[in-house]
Amino acid sequence: MARFTLPRDLYHGKGSLEELKNLKGKKAVVVVGGGSMKRFGFLGRVEEYLKEAGMEVALFEGVEPDPSVETVMKGAKLMQEFGPDWIVAIGGGSPIDAAKAMWAFYEYPDTKFDDLIIPFNFPTLRTKAKFCAIPSTSGTATEVTAFSVITDYEKGIKYPLADFNITPDVAIVDPDLAETMPPKLTANTGMDALTHAIEAYVSTLHCDYTDPLALHAIKMIHEFLIKSYNGDTEARARMHNAQCLAGMAFSNALLGIVHSMAHKTGAAYSGGHIVHGAANAMYLPKVIKFNSKVPEAAARYADIARFIGLTGADDTELTDALIAEIRSMNVQLNIAPSIKTYEGGIIDEKEFNEKLKTVAELAVGDACTGSNPRPITPAEMEKLLTCCFYDTEVDF
Ligand code: FE
Repeated sequence: MARFTLPRDLYHGKGSLEELKNLKGKKAVVVVGGGSMKRFGFLGRVEEYLKEAGMEVALFEGVEPDPSVETVMKGAKLMQEFGPDWIVAIGGGSPIDAAKAMWAFYEYPDTKFDDLIIPFNFPTLRTKAKFCAIPSTSGTATEVTAFSVITDYEKGIKYPLADFNITPDVAIVDPDLAETMPPKLTANTGMDALTHAIEAYVSTLHCDYTDPLALHAIKMIHEFLIKSYNGDTEARARMHNAQCLAGMAFSNALLGIVHSMAHKTGAAYSGGHIVHGAANAMYLPKVIKFNSKVPEAAARYADIARFIGLTGADDTELTDALIAEIRSMNVQLNIAPSIKTYEGGIIDEKEFNEKLKTVAELAVGDACTGSNPRPITPAEMEKLLTCCFYDTEVDF
């Protein structure tokens, strides 16, 4: 038995933000990030539409990138005081992810964060509120997924929370919001989306319901991401849909060790964060090579390669062609090929090597490792992370 869960309603296309007018409820808390949604006027429109729907509105502003446990608790407290029957989260992955965790603590104030990090262990939600998510970036697809990533800064660890209870009720995928993304964000979030689709397609939990979503998303991202990065607004709009399709696939097929590695390296080093999408973009070619030692995985990477028009005599050649294509996309998107060169070298080599054993163990223990097509030991993970640091060949 397997489960396939998506939001009850998804509104998409230009102007779909206006659908907020038709939500039925009394009180909404709007959760938002650092200010770009306000600056571009979208936050004002959200408030206006919700008021037109007859709702009283409270704002929770200022969710930081890579939201913290503390921010989640603050938002939950506001919700407990205000008592919303709708939670509306708008912005990049961060405010939406934070709002999902706030939702759990709003409905169950006595829940412990440690209980929520156990996969598929959430209490039953929707006893107090429903959830509407409106993405402004084209990558995480958190508007349709059962996931949220919250960072424990004390421990320096990103925790992926996973449960179908936090799949939103309503998603509004309006390309007008994504038009405001700066190029670097477009690049990073786009490669995050590509990683979602590829990891979902080769996941041990992939199925007939997730495969077509993953493949079509990969084809669209391959066709539109570079154009979107270079300022083509029609391509930008298509990317907004493509990342959402990738989200539908991975929310149900889960991911693999590219994400395990990105989660555990993201906040581990004193030089700065390795941004999620850039981490995925750097690690994806290495992980494909590692996973392709499993013939079933190689056959599926070959499927992907053929589907986007690459050629090769056998699965190995097709897999290598796919790896080359992803590396070429990274070059065109100005994403570094290695941790060592990331952002001009902000991650210190000595610190990386000192923390390697711990980070490798944490990555193996990440919730995304279980559905990777090839099992991995902590020793292999150390080698793989080292290849990602120095951009060396994966030959094990
Ligand atoms: Fe991701």
